[in-house]
Amino acid sequence: MSTAHDPRPRATVVVTGSELLSGTVSDANGPFLARELGRLGAVVTRVLVVSDRPEDLRSALEFAAGDDLVVTSGGLGPTADDLTADVVAEFCGAPMEIDDDLRGRIHARVAGWAAKAGWDGPALDAATAKQARVPRGASVLEPVGTAPGLVVRREGGPLVTVLPGPPRELRGMWPAALESAPLAGLLAGAGVPEPRMLRFAGLPESEIAATLREVGAELDLSRVEVTTCLRRSELEVDLHPLPGAQDAADRLTAALLERHRRKLISDDGTTTDELLAAALLGNGWTVATGESCTGGLLAGRLVDRAGSSAYVAGGVVAYSNEAKTALLGVPAELIAEHGAVSPQVARALADGARERFGATAGVGITGVAGPDGGTEAKPVGYVCFCVTTADGQVIERDPRLPGDRSDVRERSVDTAMHLLLRAAGVTGPDAQRS
Ligand code: ATP
Ligand code: MG
Repeated sequence: MSTAHDPRPRATVVVTGSELLSGTVSDANGPFLARELGRLGAVVTRVLVVSDRPEDLRSALEFAAGDDLVVTSGGLGPTADDLTADVVAEFCGAPMEIDDDLRGRIHARVAGWAAKAGWDGPALDAATAKQARVPRGASVLEPVGTAPGLVVRREGGPLVTVLPGPPRELRGMWPAALESAPLAGLLAGAGVPEPRMLRFAGLPESEIAATLREVGAELDLSRVEVTTCLRRSELEVDLHPLPGAQDAADRLTAALLERHRRKLISDDGTTTDELLAAALLGNGWTVATGESCTGGLLAGRLVDRAGSSAYVAGGVVAYSNEAKTALLGVPAELIAEHGAVSPQVARALADGARERFGATAGVGITGVAGPDGGTEAKPVGYVCFCVTTADGQVIERDPRLPGDRSDVRERSVDTAMHLLLRAAGVTGPDAQRS
């Protein structure tokens, strides 16, 4: 339960589905619900994934019985093995009753396609009747597919919100769940936390830990929850002040910003991609890419955002030496002299892409992604980057990136994004040294 120490409601997410435990389907609902609940000010204490067997769901509910809220996903379908509503009703001590209006509405939803599929008659009636059974006292959430969701309280225990399994249905029903009076009431007390996320590039977690220790020696930080999350080459630091600890959180934020300003990307949670899009649009710039080891991943990341045609000119995947020369004008002698993975070739790729596409900025990436092909001088993970701009900026890096082939390629994309940010004038002098 929430406490005087921390008034936020505590929530458990229970995801059902034996297919999620065999590794064939990855759980999409747990992360979605955890993110949403966190955004709304709840503390998610756990996400449990359980099989379709009723005893496993039952034990998960009992495990969560001390929380304020439980949200379940799955097992609401029309077949006999869809047992979530029954198990939740039992957990809440509420008998199941048929809701005749709801039965009519479900029937109306499915009658059309059931008739077409030659599936009406007694089987349809039985399926509809099953899905129209509702624990007494529950709020019903209108079906998005055929199954209604439920919000039902256990006396002296948690509020249980029951949602369907198919992710599209679950997400479709979520807004209605939030509007239902019991859940709205519970979350209204939470107080939406002020977003306070600092995002750094290429800053090790140990540096943050050191700052926390130093600041903590002079300031009581026991009521500021700090979560650090390393996402490839970016480090996110979340600060959540408990009641009365706002001042401590402000002072900690100021200390983190002061000490690590050079690695800062944003102090309001804005992502690298959002910042870069805004900067390119603001500058009226266009970007072109000449990619070797990342094979188009950077171009893919850049065009991931809607509206990117305003600032992405295009890109070339120049993987072979011949392609580098033929498509981006990298001199064959340059490759022969310095090697395909070299700062010189990265620069020629950037210039070539910028010139061929008539763009404002060009990015060149060439590296050893591994697992083979590394040498002593150019080991696996050695990647050369260059950003050149029409106004004469040249920004170069040649770090050795950690990890396996896919890590190296993904981190390379991050690094290139950070270099572009810097070229566009957004981040501090060092933020891209990942
Ligand atoms: P249905 O009426 O489709 O049976 P349901 O509420 O009973 O709905 P489930 O039977 O648990 O839901 O799941 C139906 C399908 O939805 C699963 O086979 C799976 O493909 C998908 N699904 C369910 N839960 C998840 C999840 N957590 N993550 C991703 N996919 C899921
Ligand atoms: Mg099902």
